[in-house]
Amino acid sequence: MEHFYTIQGEGYHTGKAAYFIRLGGCDIGCHWCDVKESWDANLHPLTDTDWIVQQAIQFPGKAVVVTGGEPLLYNLDYLTSELQKRGVQTFIETSGAYPLSGTWDWICLSPKKFKGPHPNVLPHAGELKVIVFNKSDFAWAEEHAAHVGPETRLYLQPEWSKADQIMPMIVNYVKENPKWRVSLQTHKFLNIP
Ligand code: SF4
Repeated sequence: MEHFYTIQGEGYHTGKAAYFIRLGGCDIGCHWCDVKESWDANLHPLTDTDWIVQQAIQFPGKAVVVTGGEPLLYNLDYLTSELQKRGVQTFIETSGAYPLSGTWDWICLSPKKFKGPHPNVLPHAGELKVIVFNKSDFAWAEEHAAHVGPETRLYLQPEWSKADQIMPMIVNYVKENPKWRVSLQTHKFLNIP
């Protein structure tokens, strides 16, 4: 759907330069989704994988974030192996709704209530990043935290359009439950993609 070199704005790798590959197609249907234009894969022409790898390796960041849409709708084995062969780290942002493919240096699992994560994704998450839209999302976050590995980093991130309302709740929750950290969409504050 699109590809660009920028700064990762959220989660564990916040602040790191990375080349983003956004794959079209998502059937999860989060009502607050900020990339609804990604949902219909048919609107986005297919892109040659070798070509996109050649684009990615030109940038000094040497890290690629594969996002969407929901990237695990596709088999990502070839893309990730070609990137890693060329010394590029591979990161994914996924809801985890589909079985895992690809070889990853980092998996950011951001489960969505509308279609919960596939059991084979949870144990591999480097980070669990739960978007908080209302109070009940804290219980949802804990439910999933119980199924990730002991080393998985735990993040709570306010849904952007309600950040003013949600942030005080997140701050209080993290103060009481310090295994969680706050994640912010800093790229939106920085006004970068
Ligand atoms: Fe949007 Fe991601 Fe939800 Fe899909 S999973 S609807 S891309 S926020």
